[in-house]
Amino acid sequence: MHGYDPKEIEEKWQDHWQKSGIYEAKDFSDLPKYYLLIEFPYPSGDGLHVGHIRSYTAMDIISRKRRMEGFNVLYPIGWDAFGLPTENYALKTGKDPKVVTKENTDTFRRQIRSLGLSFDWSREINTTDPKYYKWTQWIFLKFLEKGLAYKAKIPINWCPKCKIGLANEEVVDGNCERCGAPVEQKEKEQWMLAITKYAERLDKDLDEVDYPDRVKIQQRNWIGRSEGVLIKFDDIEIFTTRPDTILGATFIVVAGKEDKFTGRFVTNPATKEKIPVWEAEYVMSDYGTGAIMGVPADDERDMEFAKKYKLPIVEDYQKAGFEDFGKKVTKYRLRDWVFSRQRYWGEPIPVIHCSKCGVAPVPEKDLPVELPKVEKYQPREDGESPLANIDEWVNVTCPKCGGKAKRETDVMPNWAGSSWYFLAYLFNKEGFASSASIENWKLQIENFRHFMPVDWYNGGMEHTVLHLLYSRFWNKFLYDLKLVPTSEPYKKRTSHGLILAENGEKMSKSKGNVVNPDTIVKQFGADTLRLYEMFMGPFEQAIAWSEDALVGPRRFLERVWRLKTKVAKGQTLDTDSQGLTLMHQTIKKVSDDIESMKFNTAVSSLMIYVNTLDKKNKISQEEFKTLILLLAPFAPHITEELWLLLGRKDSIHIQNWPTYDSKKLIKDEIILAVQINGKVKANVLVSRDQSEEEIKTMALALPEVNKWLKGKKPERVIVVPRKIISIVT
Ligand SMILES: [Zn+2]
Ligand SMILES: [Zn+2]
Repeated sequence: MHGYDPKEIEEKWQDHWQKSGIYEAKDFSDLPKYYLLIEFPYPSGDGLHVGHIRSYTAMDIISRKRRMEGFNVLYPIGWDAFGLPTENYALKTGKDPKVVTKENTDTFRRQIRSLGLSFDWSREINTTDPKYYKWTQWIFLKFLEKGLAYKAKIPINWCPKCKIGLANEEVVDGNCERCGAPVEQKEKEQWMLAITKYAERLDKDLDEVDYPDRVKIQQRNWIGRSEGVLIKFDDIEIFTTRPDTILGATFIVVAGKEDKFTGRFVTNPATKEKIPVWEAEYVMSDYGTGAIMGVPADDERDMEFAKKYKLPIVEDYQKAGFEDFGKKVTKYRLRDWVFSRQRYWGEPIPVIHCSKCGVAPVPEKDLPVELPKVEKYQPREDGESPLANIDEWVNVTCPKCGGKAKRETDVMPNWAGSSWYFLAYLFNKEGFASSASIENWKLQIENFRHFMPVDWYNGGMEHTVLHLLYSRFWNKFLYDLKLVPTSEPYKKRTSHGLILAENGEKMSKSKGNVVNPDTIVKQFGADTLRLYEMFMGPFEQAIAWSEDALVGPRRFLERVWRLKTKVAKGQTLDTDSQGLTLMHQTIKKVSDDIESMKFNTAVSSLMIYVNTLDKKNKISQEEFKTLILLLAPFAPHITEELWLLLGRKDSIHIQNWPTYDSKKLIKDEIILAVQINGKVKANVLVSRDQSEEEIKTMALALPEVNKWLKGKKPERVIVVPRKIISIVT
């Protein structure tokens, strides 16, 4: 007999699963569906992070369990591949981002495959594939058609030294991330998406979804709904959430760049007194009306301001009814989404500017507007995208009048492709490749109806505001056009904790503390790595990596491997009653723990089970089969191999998930205390299904009891079920 060697089994099964297609979801299936989603990775040059593996393995375990429970499971994967790191790499090296992306996705794909994750690779997507972004551009045109995409002058982050517009994440403490120069604000025409039109529904519909409270709170804070009242102080309209304090209002503040008195006075409609109008920094120009009433007695900041500038303070005043002076309104802090970047590596915005016709959408049949090859990826001196340098690409004829016109040279932000990717997985192959049109979209709706909404979406806490909000917005917009079947895209959202370096710091290339999963797979095997990441600690908590701790899961798998020599042949051995109890308890514990993402305690209970089995000389087929079925979602390779060695033909991953019998959860035999005249004198082992008469007979036959009775008949024998037997002489 040979020992456990992952190298001999893991790659073999990965190839086998790929060929057999057992992890591919079926279109138009009669089975109930289950759609699990992970945040598709950005294929950076660093390769797969061990943190990715934590999330992917967790959802893989749930996917595998659902498959064994008889669901048509969809667990897809793809690449969110537009973005700054690749573009910055291109800027530095002059390498085509397309080529860099191909290299990076090849590495990621190989690494993910080496982990035995049950992704449906037949649906792999890539946001930078023209076949994909043709649809992203098509959705943008729908926004344009409905008046929700528009141009506006907006200040952008501008580095005067690098002469480029910067994304918010490239501004570090007010300085340019590349050169350190102080970042300036520059007014620029930008494309905007009117997400504020959906603010109310994005807030209210959070009631319908199963997200962690902290995620809902973060989204609600970002949307910033507040109910208040608009009140006119002469020609100045203010917004307040506390109209009842109007009798205490002694000044007005409008948003400004510095604190100063305007020299004006207006009438407080409640007190009829003239009060001064000030400008101050602490009032936001884009919140409410950009003006507030100052009520020092009721607001700390107003009090501070009043004291600083010696403005009147009224401490005692009556509360007013609001309805008396203004009208009720609801305001949101959410702003429209700045949707253009003066960059290269993004989806070109599909519009044409004509001096006669204005903005003309690129006709559907001309999609995709493909990214042209450029010489330099550097934005221009004037801050325009490098696309503006390519005359033959920019100069086109107007699709409306046929006159001379120019292409839009801005591209979309890297949030665009991820705002609808959960739908892209549902397209059938022909549909995806076909031209972007309403007819071809509608051919996918049956699939959308089958799979949507996503049943369970797991991702990082860092994406719970923007990405979730943006994708909910796009889905709601498509829902209003009757292009998707549900108004919310995700039924349930969960989050995983980070994996930190051994010393508790964040892993980063610059610190040299990044763990390469390839090394771990090579040394310990994929099953050990998966099991370790599930066992390392509570799933939602951050935890430090420990190379030493990998040995435990590896030894556990070696024990499971050795157990196979103890399995009795055929049906020659029945599971004993204690064995049955532990088996059913383990089925229940592992099943429940997977559902509540307590993967670490699920693994512990499997370890306890293996310990107990290991102490026996022989174990039954039933015991061993149950063990490897429960372990299969965690360690898919070793269990598949053991299943084969048991003589089974089909894959273990399409067998039925074990179920427990709640009657068998409690031990079948119990010990009852035997009392004689109120004092415990003996114990008796009985089985649960024994009758009262049988228990009495057993108790009276005990030597200790006979010693007390001395041949006499007891006066009374009372059996309190499952507790005691009481004998009175
Ligand atoms: Zn700079
Ligand atoms: Zn025209």
